[in-house]
Amino acid sequence: MVTPASHPKALIAVLAACLVLPLAAALTPATGNASAHSPDVNDIILSINESFIEDSIAAIQAFGPHPTGSEACTRVRDYLTQRLEAWGLEVYLHGWSRRSYQGQNIVATWPGIHAELPPVVVSAHYDSAPGSPGADDDGSGVASVLAAARALREYSFNRTVAFVLFSGEEQGTLGSLSYVHDLYHQGKQVAGVINLDGIGHTETESGGRNVIVYEEPASAWLADAMEEVASDHYQQVRLGLKRLPNTGYSDHNSFLTYGYGALQVEEYEYNHWFHTANDTLDYVNVTYVTHIARLTAGTLARVAHQNWRTPEVTIAVPRHDVLYVFGRELLPLDRGTVLALGPLDMVAEASADTASVTFYLDGEAVAVDEEPPFSWTCRRTLLWDHQMVAEARDAQGNVAVAQVDLGLSLY
Ligand SMILES: [Zn+2]
Repeated sequence: MVTPASHPKALIAVLAACLVLPLAAALTPATGNASAHSPDVNDIILSINESFIEDSIAAIQAFGPHPTGSEACTRVRDYLTQRLEAWGLEVYLHGWSRRSYQGQNIVATWPGIHAELPPVVVSAHYDSAPGSPGADDDGSGVASVLAAARALREYSFNRTVAFVLFSGEEQGTLGSLSYVHDLYHQGKQVAGVINLDGIGHTETESGGRNVIVYEEPASAWLADAMEEVASDHYQQVRLGLKRLPNTGYSDHNSFLTYGYGALQVEEYEYNHWFHTANDTLDYVNVTYVTHIARLTAGTLARVAHQNWRTPEVTIAVPRHDVLYVFGRELLPLDRGTVLALGPLDMVAEASADTASVTFYLDGEAVAVDEEPPFSWTCRRTLLWDHQMVAEARDAQGNVAVAQVDLGLSLY
């Protein structure tokens, strides 16, 4: 064996190695999943199969009806948490209590390379309606979130991906409202949210080839990304998107209520067994669910690997959960509500590359500001629901949208 003492060159090599190795380690970006390789959307899509989806829905259904607060719901919670932890995801339970209900949301994350980038979220609800085993509502959504988690953990992405399973949905999206309330008041950003609720039932052949996407101005970019994935990977996904203005009733609304861009994915044909004892696998089209799970995972992978979106915009004023009187914050409110008496300033914070911000009220362009701070003062009396949108545009014409839903504005 060659010893360093007898060969100066060998000694220099050893010393050099001692110096270089730690340096190399310091330069390599810390990822939450160093072993994972860069994402291949097609591989991710193909890794999601029908037997995984069917087995997951069957396992959830086997717990019987599992409404929020029931023992069965706790057992479903533990079953899902164990699976996500077994795949190496970071999992925590977000406790909530609203009205006379309480429960836990399951929050699992797959850390991205750039922790400073806002995460992309996929969600579903694991509680069922009382008396219903909930195979379609929302076992189909939960199984698809699990499938996406299992597929994406093999890869490393620029952004963190959060897999969130809510409880309290059947009681009026109570779990998600609490989760998003906390997120908002902690000042946390979210790139976008895909919510899956009731994605398993088909009545006709065309029903199995289409899916409904409920969107809002702030989530149109995410629906665009989903449409691109559906067309680029049509052979494996086999779905057309029916994009509709948001009228969906599910957890995506909790995000939208606090101004986060969210969309809802829903089955094309209505399931008459919803909320009944017959909401079982017998009436779930597993191939259809698998296609939607593939579409979702492919979209998450594409968005999670995107680096910075340019431009970026958020609405700083009005803030949610506040009553404004003549522009001053007077009272804290809840449920993401924004109420205003008197003139109301709207202020948008946008990234440095923003050339202008256009303000819209209920779809009507009301002002364009080309100088930061980008702002507009609403001097109209508005009763009930109205939508304010800030659209930031950079010099290349790239657009980002933020929105706030206004409850009441009396001027
Ligand atoms: Zn549901």
